[in-house]
Amino acid sequence: MNYAVWLIGLSLLFILVERVWPRSPQKLLRRGIVSDVAYLVFNSEYLGVLIGALSIHAVAWLDRTMDLLRLREVFYLGVMSGRSFAVQFVVLLLVFDFAQWGIHNLLHRVPILWRFHRVHHSIEEMDWIGNWRFHGVEVIVYRALLYPCAAFFGFGVEAMFTYGVFNTLIGHFAHANLRARIGWLRYLINSPEMHIWHHTHPDSGPMNRNFGIALSVWDWVFGTAYLPAAAIPARLGFTGIEAFPKNIVTQTLAPLLWDGRGKQ
Ligand SMILES: [Zn+2]
Ligand SMILES: [Zn+2]
Repeated sequence: MNYAVWLIGLSLLFILVERVWPRSPQKLLRRGIVSDVAYLVFNSEYLGVLIGALSIHAVAWLDRTMDLLRLREVFYLGVMSGRSFAVQFVVLLLVFDFAQWGIHNLLHRVPILWRFHRVHHSIEEMDWIGNWRFHGVEVIVYRALLYPCAAFFGFGVEAMFTYGVFNTLIGHFAHANLRARIGWLRYLINSPEMHIWHHTHPDSGPMNRNFGIALSVWDWVFGTAYLPAAAIPARLGFTGIEAFPKNIVTQTLAPLLWDGRGKQ
């Protein structure tokens, strides 16, 4: 099954479960939904194309460079090739998720990266499709670093594909407008109850918490976890969000054109 089939299936599943167990009353066709559907289509397609193109070209380029510098034996680890699917998947999940947790920290803490990442934080009504509202530059920042390395280190296509689907599943879940509590699993896996606090407006809760992508464990280990008694923040977003552009076209241009009233 290709990725598009998984994406459509998971999206329909979350449309359904949000209707059955909503956390907050929210319309299906809420404000900004057309733009978010455009983000879903564009970012998922763009992502697929970019993953393929970057993996192939970057690995070929790395190979050539390594040969040229006679460094292949030193750096080509290939430690994962020949390992079972289960081992590859678990190692990929741990290594990639930790790396993404670090990159997500940088997206918040480095001003030029925050200009792009605040597109994702322009969400004011949280639901599963918000998972896809992010600036295309984020794809470059994340994937350009991660996927060539994965291929170079010898992870198989099957493990990488499964990891991609798993990431989408948890991404939809963590953003979903769901009244879901997952008990002790919250120390391991990202969830709606934790991720909503990552999106809190500075008026309603602390900044720079819950950076987890698929796993929450890094936030608990490194002291950035935040899970108060209140179920949801009173308000989502960032300082100056009122003036932030509202659709995919203007938001994509925003990091270049907007006057920068985007302090957290
Ligand atoms: Zn963020
Ligand atoms: Zn988010």
